[in-house]
Amino acid sequence: MNESLALPDYDIAIVGGGMVGSVLAGLLSASGAGWRTVLIDARSPDGLVSDHYEPHYDNRSTAISAGSADILQRLGLWSRLKAHATAITEVHVSDQGHLGGALIDAREQARDALGYVLENAWLAPTLRAAADGAPEVRVLAPAQVTGLLPGRHLSTLTLKGEGAPGTLTARLVVLADGGASDLHRRLGIEQVRRDYQQHAVIANVSFERPHRGRAYERFTPRGPLALLPLDESPQARRAALVWTLPPGEAEALRRAPEPEFLDALQRAFGWRLGRLTRVGERQSWPLALVQAQEQVRSRLVLLGNSAHYLHPVAGQGFNLSLRDAAALAAVLRRARLEGGDPGALPVLNRYVAQRAQDQRLTIQLSDKLVRVFSNRRLGLMALRHLGFVGLDFLPGVKDWFAAQTMGTAGPRAPWEPPVQRLSEMGP
Ligand SMILES: Cc1cc2nc3c(=O)[nH]c(=O)nc-3n(C[C@H](O)[C@H](O)[C@H](O)COP(=O)(O)OP(=O)(O)OC[C@H]3O[C@@H](n4cnc5c(N)ncnc54)[C@H](O)[C@@H]3O)c2cc1C
Repeated sequence: MNESLALPDYDIAIVGGGMVGSVLAGLLSASGAGWRTVLIDARSPDGLVSDHYEPHYDNRSTAISAGSADILQRLGLWSRLKAHATAITEVHVSDQGHLGGALIDAREQARDALGYVLENAWLAPTLRAAADGAPEVRVLAPAQVTGLLPGRHLSTLTLKGEGAPGTLTARLVVLADGGASDLHRRLGIEQVRRDYQQHAVIANVSFERPHRGRAYERFTPRGPLALLPLDESPQARRAALVWTLPPGEAEALRRAPEPEFLDALQRAFGWRLGRLTRVGERQSWPLALVQAQEQVRSRLVLLGNSAHYLHPVAGQGFNLSLRDAAALAAVLRRARLEGGDPGALPVLNRYVAQRAQDQRLTIQLSDKLVRVFSNRRLGLMALRHLGFVGLDFLPGVKDWFAAQTMGTAGPRAPWEPPVQRLSEMGP
């Protein structure tokens, strides 16, 4: 059949229902543009979509900037997410082996919080459930996309999975597949990769004293470590640890018996939270900066980790992708109002142009933070240069650092409020 005459099954197909693909599906629906959207994910929704919250010792957490919380609030999801979000009211920055440190306080920034910490075990299923219930969105899971053939008027996807159609067509395909699948490579889209030669050990830890909403950033001779406050009760005082180390040390500590691990962490972190009493399951992540060389082609967009994978120490990966997704939904809404085609290259180029500056600055910021603070000598110089040690005397520098932490610095994503909030939509 002539492809130009064929009616596509969907306007937009999103490959990957991780946090980024799910939030895009929600944003597209809430934009009121009426795009018929399908969200396809290889993972079974069982165990992902949970209605109840259970505190986890064993999962990753995401620091959400105040700017991201604003987007999620306007989408109508924040009240549900906030129930298990911990507000970061202060950030304490210090350097192991040196007295002092700096305190950044939300009140000085005229904010309730500098940001929020959410366990992925709560954030990811809440975003997926919102997409699943959104009008004009169909979720296919578990279903794996095994082939992608972009055409002139529509793209064809090949799917594998019980109950999934063998093929489907869409006018635009968004690859939000996390970058680990090889779909982009098969299209000839290369990634530029810089390996940091570091691993991050991730775990939840417990301690004696209440954290009172304070996050800790500590620079050590082996690499930076961050402790982000989690839901607190008299029974459980917990924080999410991201500890950057040379790969061999990270692996040894990941496998070390609990008392040995807690001892090493206590030496690196100190006693600000009293004795460290427990550590949950430890995971280790190799750290790299990965960027796709092309983010759009006719009928194709790369989003989330597929487009850019950042070092987690600056906590920017999801925040940046959320701003990307908000901008993409807004550009596509405008295309709809103008009677345009969502997969047309001029429409998608508009998205790239809008996002270029924020992406460049955010990627540069996290890359520089990692490289400078991974080097003990340079790290110390930077600390002094930026005035971290005497930050309290340099309010301008402090405001700059706080704005970066909150995701309110630099250019903002062109954000158009959704026509309808997801929480207000019927089933
Ligand atoms: C240790 C660590 C800590 C982090 N902390 C922060 C933080 O504090 N703040 C922050 O902003 N960011 C943080 N990040 C970054 C953040 O986690 C990522 O930006 C985010 O998870 C990217 O989500 P994604 O949806 O793009 O990819 P993924 O989460 O990888 O999702 C991809 C999805 O695609 C599906 N999929 C893959 N291939 C196929 C296929 N062929 N067919 C169908 N489905 C497919 C997968 O099943 C998966 O569900 C951190 C990252 C790490 C590693």
